[in-house]
Amino acid sequence: MTVETQPTVIIAGMGPVGMTAALALALKGIPVTILETGDDLATESRASTFHPPSLEILKDLGVVDELMESGLKAPGFQYRGHNRELIAHLDMALLENDTEFPFRIQNEQGTLTRIIRRHLEEMPHVTLRYGAPVERVEMGRNCAYVFLPGDGREPSYRADWLIGTDGAGSAVRQSLGIAFEGVTYPERFLVASTTHDFLDDFDDLAYVSYVYDPDDWGVLLRTPQHWRVLFPIDEDESDEAAQHPDRIEERLQGVIALDEPYPVAHSTIYKVHQRLAATFGQGRVLLAGDAAHINNPLGGMGMNSGIHDAHAAVEAISFALAGGDPTQAVETYARVRYDAAAVDVQKNTQKNYEEMRQQDDKERSERKNEMADIAADPVRAREYLLGTSMISSFEKSSRRMRDGLAQANETSPPVPSLQLDARTAS
Ligand SMILES: Cc1cc2nc3c(=O)[nH]c(=O)nc-3n(C[C@H](O)[C@H](O)[C@H](O)COP(=O)(O)OP(=O)(O)OC[C@H]3O[C@@H](n4cnc5c(N)ncnc54)[C@H](O)[C@@H]3O)c2cc1C
Repeated sequence: MTVETQPTVIIAGMGPVGMTAALALALKGIPVTILETGDDLATESRASTFHPPSLEILKDLGVVDELMESGLKAPGFQYRGHNRELIAHLDMALLENDTEFPFRIQNEQGTLTRIIRRHLEEMPHVTLRYGAPVERVEMGRNCAYVFLPGDGREPSYRADWLIGTDGAGSAVRQSLGIAFEGVTYPERFLVASTTHDFLDDFDDLAYVSYVYDPDDWGVLLRTPQHWRVLFPIDEDESDEAAQHPDRIEERLQGVIALDEPYPVAHSTIYKVHQRLAATFGQGRVLLAGDAAHINNPLGGMGMNSGIHDAHAAVEAISFALAGGDPTQAVETYARVRYDAAAVDVQKNTQKNYEEMRQQDDKERSERKNEMADIAADPVRAREYLLGTSMISSFEKSSRRMRDGLAQANETSPPVPSLQLDARTAS
């Protein structure tokens, strides 16, 4: 097999993070090839909450309207107790001066990847390749070599830059020997989707509710097609037992008792981890999204922080391709996005997990009162929402990226901007 020589960026994985990075690069006129192991985009139902900064990024990429049109606008979210009684309603309209999108959009990550694909397919300098699993990566001089199955000693691609967005089991990360340290939770999560409408059962139910309970904590959320209920599964319950239709029915009846059985569309069991790659950048390889960090889904931060990674990775690569110092670009990206994942995402999601399942009655009760107080005070609620909506995290990260690349600029020759226009490039 011959080595392709056209200067290009390779992206491993067509999940929401890889596709966002691909579109951002392509819109800058940078040739990009995206390799996907599957025969098509994934259909699995996972991320469904898009926070304001992700919506801002997707607006700049020209795809937010399509995402919003097919999604649901959630103007707030709630904390609820054992009987799903309201503890606190957080009104995201308080963020109206902080973002153009003071709400969450509920939509499937598979809808986003399909919207982005439609745009990429129109662009002549973009190659989408399916059934193409990245098997391993080798560092070259100012490049990375990407090997697909059957390549032998000759790689399929020589990439000026490679972004590893190949998910939690990332072959890119593993082949570079980058550790992925952290913990796996003892309990797994069961997600059951039903077409029953919980809006008929609870007053003023938001599209996203977090349930505080020592045993029966979880999440109740709406997607465009279903309500999804997330339950923890005890360590001593097998996957088969937890996913048995009678058991799912029992758990759904525990949310609200119905006279008839729940219509269950599907159910999935997930292992849950909190893990971080030891570095997010090495040579000409950047890791982004689940390839770099995974966390529990409480707060909806995994994909969203991955979209922030994609934004930062494209900024770093564009800077280097336009003449900036590549080492400084990689180091800035790796440092800034590692910190965002470690400090903003991992700590917050872990805190959500601990608070929702708090076993101590007094502490749980104090936390519920505190949440009600925060929700009732517009100043405190706005502060709180800046964190939960990831606005603070994204602003801090964007500022640090700018500062990191500007420092590089002081020691590098002036950086010309890329002149290519993606819409007209051929
Ligand atoms: C139940 C649940 C609910 C969640 N809810 C939310 C939420 O509301 N909000 C949120 O922000 N996050 C949420 N998450 C997390 C979110 O789903 C992930 O963070 C997100 O999918 C990460 O996107 P990604 O593109 O990095 O990786 P992935 O979505 O895993 O995509 C990786 C892609 O790479 C491909 N691939 C794998 N290996 C290779 C290879 N060797 N070569 C080429 N291609 C490869 C895969 O086929 C896949 O298409 C949730 C997760 C779960 C489990």
